[in-house]
Amino acid sequence: MASSSSSSSSKNNDHKPPPLFNIIETSTTVLQKQTEKECSSYFIDLSRLSVSEIKNLQQIGLLSSSSDDDDDGKEETQNQNENPPQVPLQVQLLKQKHCRYLEQVWKNPLKAPFVSLDSSRPWMLYWCLNGYDLMMNSSSSSSSASSSKGKKMISLLPAKYYCGGFGGGPGQMAHAATTYAAILSLCILATSKQILKEIRIPLYRWMCSLQVVSSSSSSGATTTNIASNGIGGYRMAHDSEIDVRATYTVVCCAQLLGLLKTKKIPSTDTSNTVNTVLGRQEVINYVISCQTYEGGFGSEPFTEAHGGYTFCGIAALKLLLGDTTTTTTTTTNKLNSNLNLNSLTGWLSRRQTTYEGGFSGRTNKLVDGCYSFWQGILIPLSFPLLYNIAKLERYILLCAQEPTGGLRDKPSKSRDFYHTCYNLCGLSIAQQHHATTTATATTTNDDDENDDDETFGDQKQTLLNYTHPVYNIRIDRVAKILDMNWK
Ligand SMILES: [Zn+2]
Repeated sequence: MASSSSSSSSKNNDHKPPPLFNIIETSTTVLQKQTEKECSSYFIDLSRLSVSEIKNLQQIGLLSSSSDDDDDGKEETQNQNENPPQVPLQVQLLKQKHCRYLEQVWKNPLKAPFVSLDSSRPWMLYWCLNGYDLMMNSSSSSSSASSSKGKKMISLLPAKYYCGGFGGGPGQMAHAATTYAAILSLCILATSKQILKEIRIPLYRWMCSLQVVSSSSSSGATTTNIASNGIGGYRMAHDSEIDVRATYTVVCCAQLLGLLKTKKIPSTDTSNTVNTVLGRQEVINYVISCQTYEGGFGSEPFTEAHGGYTFCGIAALKLLLGDTTTTTTTTTNKLNSNLNLNSLTGWLSRRQTTYEGGFSGRTNKLVDGCYSFWQGILIPLSFPLLYNIAKLERYILLCAQEPTGGLRDKPSKSRDFYHTCYNLCGLSIAQQHHATTTATATTTNDDDENDDDETFGDQKQTLLNYTHPVYNIRIDRVAKILDMNWK
């Protein structure tokens, strides 16, 4: 579909992929052409659809039925009208179907194939809970999270956490990634405050044990020894790899639980005292050392720039520099003095694919719905006005949605909890960024800038709760946790 309404479809003629310059055909160019072809069949012109085709899409719920439908239940409505619709048709988000797909994690025992995700139990809970939370209206979501449902959800986390962090499943060793997913899940659930209070001190001890510290007593690690031995970084688990994911997940959990700037354990238990600061200058230096010559961040120094690691790097720096909002002059100046922002901006803006509209994770890689969040979040977080919101929304709503519920990487892939969560997070961020830039343009009366505020789809029906750009749970959930009195 060339636009969100049939009336404006003649404005855009981009439903055919642009020709690729095939000087040399490689496996990469072949895959790229295949991907553009599979997406092109979804970018149809609504004005050219027959009545029966429109009715079919309305019955699925992908198209609005009429201008006076209510939001809730719209996707289940069947249009019995034989005449062509007279109102502009708009693409919708299959909220009810996506919710039904996600809630299977806590409603029923998962089926046998899910055994391969046995070490990702906290992740499954987080992906499903967060995606669900973004789609629910505030009051209903809050009540479901605070009821017996919430207790049932918590019971899905590994019952015993080992050494202070959470493993992927019962009896599995503590790991920074699954701990991050477990803490975020507990922050979403209103019934888990007492649990968070009980675990934060053991968690602090465990996170301190993941730090990579210099063996010499001299302060100030140089760029060279940071890069070669990971000083300032964190390990994902004991005796495990050191990378920027570990830094982000540790720093994120520590900040949510009021532990990032703690200098010693705030506990009556003085045995085995740990006296350190999780968010110290060496940590900032380590994160900076992960920026590559391309501009994005690699998992560790001298590795390839990648969307997920770039999110981890920028979000960690935002937390460590004490500013978790979107772009501010102060933070930009702080980032500017430490990073090559020009190369980062260029790398990020080139990750949005020209034809498909979604993001790729690395140079010369294919579009993938999950990068709607990993890359999409970074542009408004650090460098506004360099991405096309309407094209990203079009990719998510048309190419990533499964008609039966759940979202996916691209049309040729199957749905899964991970891609459902991060497509929705990317859509939430796009809506949030659009609202911010529109408000800014209105305030400054700069009508010439409004070309960038075009959107795709039914903006009212597709509206999601806003996710926090650094913590990636709902903004109101973050505010409540940061306001907690931990004493
Ligand atoms: Zn993906």
